[in-house]
Amino acid sequence: MAQIILLPGKERSAFKLHHPWLFAGAVGRLEGRARPGDTVEVLADNLRPLGRAAYSPRSQIRARFWTFDPDESVDDAFFKRRVAAAVARRQALPELCGQSGRRLIHAESDGLPGVIADQYGDTVVVQLTSAGADKWRKAIVAGLLKATGCARIYERSDSDVRGLEGLEPATGWLHGVAPDSPPSIEENGVSLTIDIVAGHKTGFYLDQRDNRALLGQLAAGKEVLNCFCYTGGFSLQALAGGAAHVLSIDSSGPALAQAQANLALNPQLPAVRAEWLEADVFSALRDFRKDGRSFDLIVLDPPKFAPSAAHAERAARAYKDINVLGFRLLRPGGLLMTYSCSGGIGLELFQKIVAGAALDAGRDARIVRRLTGSADHPVALNFPEGEYLKGLLVQAD
Ligand code: SAH
Repeated sequence: MAQIILLPGKERSAFKLHHPWLFAGAVGRLEGRARPGDTVEVLADNLRPLGRAAYSPRSQIRARFWTFDPDESVDDAFFKRRVAAAVARRQALPELCGQSGRRLIHAESDGLPGVIADQYGDTVVVQLTSAGADKWRKAIVAGLLKATGCARIYERSDSDVRGLEGLEPATGWLHGVAPDSPPSIEENGVSLTIDIVAGHKTGFYLDQRDNRALLGQLAAGKEVLNCFCYTGGFSLQALAGGAAHVLSIDSSGPALAQAQANLALNPQLPAVRAEWLEADVFSALRDFRKDGRSFDLIVLDPPKFAPSAAHAERAARAYKDINVLGFRLLRPGGLLMTYSCSGGIGLELFQKIVAGAALDAGRDARIVRRLTGSADHPVALNFPEGEYLKGLLVQAD
């Protein structure tokens, strides 16, 4: 096995904190030969062994630790254990009882950097985003089959981040064949069809499950505006919760078509109270302002404006703009449910942005609740980067 020897003084993050990423700037030298994804031994400059990691020569994250036990073998049995433990963690969560859509593996936070696995009924969708994860795909798939007994596994490794690792996109069936109809799930009593082939990410945003349930609890009798609605997850929960009217906006025609198909799957919901608008949220909200429209409850769940810290400043302006527009359309006493899923924007900064937006809109506002991703998207204590979804439920006078 090749060895990475760190520069003097660069072992702290691995040794003291067990942080799973080793940045290029910490690496002194590579002893031996390693190809992308190969397992390497990581040693401090005094040659004290720190653990075993997957080598990513093309990435600034030069290696991702599989284990901090220098004696643990990284082999098929290792992945079987890690995958089984991740699946068991979800089985132990009471809030997932009865949810047929769930995240099974949340990458670093489950000790499996570069590995995402989401289950939709009896179909599991995997996304492998690092060279190491890609290399061990067979073992990971075997582990998932054993731990879940699922009928089929589909790969959606088409995320941009693979390019940073020198990997081509990869999609297709890894186990089983395409079902006659796309998988569907039941989420908090609402049925949703998941487009695992062409939808975003693995097809659906499971991280917002708990927040969608919360919206349902808040929606009774309210006029709701759901911005960036994608396939209608928040919209349908608002209707289920007794909203008087739900206006949903997205710029994607296919997403809106799927949202409407999802509503049709739920004859128990009052479809007449739902309105769908294909538009750019920024300009639609400006138009609503001109028309003097207002709402009791507004959801802002935009796409990632800042993929990394380098984009933070421009992204901050976009978050500010959208939140100013939101506050301006909120009736007195109304609630704004606002999110950022940008890794480059921390919670503290996001709160400042939203506070600035309220001020610009001339609103006196307070946080009623802080919102995070659902329980199947845990954040490892030593991996704060795993906390990408930040949300605030804000009430404005
Ligand atoms: N809230 C959704 C997930 C939102 S994903 C859920 O719970 O499932 C972000 C969505 O924003 C995508 O559907 C994308 O099509 C849409 N989008 C991106 N930019 C947009 C814009 N400027 N105006 C309107 N929609 C936009």
